[in-house]
Amino acid sequence: MTETSKSLRALSCADDYDPDSMPVAKARAYIREFLSPITGTERVAIRAGLGRVLAEDIVSPLDVPAHDNSAMDGYAVRFADLGDREITLKVAGTAFAGKTFAGELGLGEAVRIMTGAKIPEGADTVVMQEHVKAEGDRVTIGPGHRKGQNLRRAGEDLKAGQAVLAKGHALRPAELGLIASLGIGEVTVYRKLRVAFFSTGDELKSIGTALAEGEIYDSNRYTIYGMLHRLGCEIIDMGVVRDDPALLEKAFREAASMADVVITSGGVSVGEADFIKDLLEKLGEVLFWKIAMKPGRPLAYGRILGAHFFGLPGNPVSVMVTFYQFVRDALLVLQGRTDVTPLPTLRAVCTTPLKKAPGRTEFQRGFISQDASGKWVVRATGEQGSGILRSMSEANCFIILPDSQGNVAAGAEVEVQLMEGLI
Ligand code: AMP
Ligand code: MG
Repeated sequence: MTETSKSLRALSCADDYDPDSMPVAKARAYIREFLSPITGTERVAIRAGLGRVLAEDIVSPLDVPAHDNSAMDGYAVRFADLGDREITLKVAGTAFAGKTFAGELGLGEAVRIMTGAKIPEGADTVVMQEHVKAEGDRVTIGPGHRKGQNLRRAGEDLKAGQAVLAKGHALRPAELGLIASLGIGEVTVYRKLRVAFFSTGDELKSIGTALAEGEIYDSNRYTIYGMLHRLGCEIIDMGVVRDDPALLEKAFREAASMADVVITSGGVSVGEADFIKDLLEKLGEVLFWKIAMKPGRPLAYGRILGAHFFGLPGNPVSVMVTFYQFVRDALLVLQGRTDVTPLPTLRAVCTTPLKKAPGRTEFQRGFISQDASGKWVVRATGEQGSGILRSMSEANCFIILPDSQGNVAAGAEVEVQLMEGLI
């Protein structure tokens, strides 16, 4: 038995542990206790690192910028040459970005300088071109300047030897640019997280086959595929598995042997849970929760044969909501991210009345937009049944109604979590 499975067992015996009424935040915190990042790494070219997680600290090999340079188009001067009245200097040459002015600035001289060009020897100040009168090889400058103005100092952005990015930082466009600015072409990132998933249910058919009476097409494998893809996982789609203990056992064993994480949908609701419960008991340690949320009441979490396991509900909206509220954060932690927090929420005025019974957190699907006065308003997207995927597809946010909340009147403020960034 591993350390992890010991603790899972201990957790299920804890005093305040109630599998029949598990608050969302508590379930999230319990899951977090059992997660540690994968350890495998690989070297990739920086562009291939987009969306991956750094597995090394990045230390700057050089000063950025490498030399003092001009922040403006203008004239590089000696501050000591300027006065409290207009003075005229001789223009000794031009400095371009990437094309340095060769000599040293003499007394009474200025150098025409472009943004990004190295400050010539002898100069210590840049006067913007808008603040001078230029005529032939002379430039006239008035009073009121400050020594060192309009200069970017060497190492002002980063100093050689300075830690720039820490292990666990996700690589977004800004990080790719930052790493490139150091002249670094390759980075060490965590390997991709391998996630295997399958749908369970005798009623499910894969697309491409005709439906017999009582059958439905399996849609969960498509939403799960999409959500995993957005998170940059390596995806192993194992298809539909019938509600048959032998077939399910085979599928669980196969999935756990190939993947870091196994996700299933369906089969964890009351009635079905008993038979899957026995099976999973045999394969590892799994907790079965009734989460105090809607949609997405049943959820199973644990370890089977060395893999993390998430047993999501079967209803299509419940699958997405439980994935975003529990699985997403967990996968980010397993991927090595050190900055994982729930996505921020904002408050908006709800323009439609909402039906809500106290006792559970609801994740209603909403559409947020700005009204004519620029105020953010949100409305629910039609029928909120846990099987109605259209409510997700028409939504751009979740309206999160806390446990204690009852019905919401039109015009009341509600908490909103944007889907963009989440998916
Ligand atoms: P279950 O939790 O297995 O009882 O499933 C709950 C509901 O979700 C049932 O109506 C199932 O038919 C439906 N369902 C389960 N799995 C899927 C799936 N992969 N695609 C679409 N609907 C599903
Ligand atoms: Mg089922």
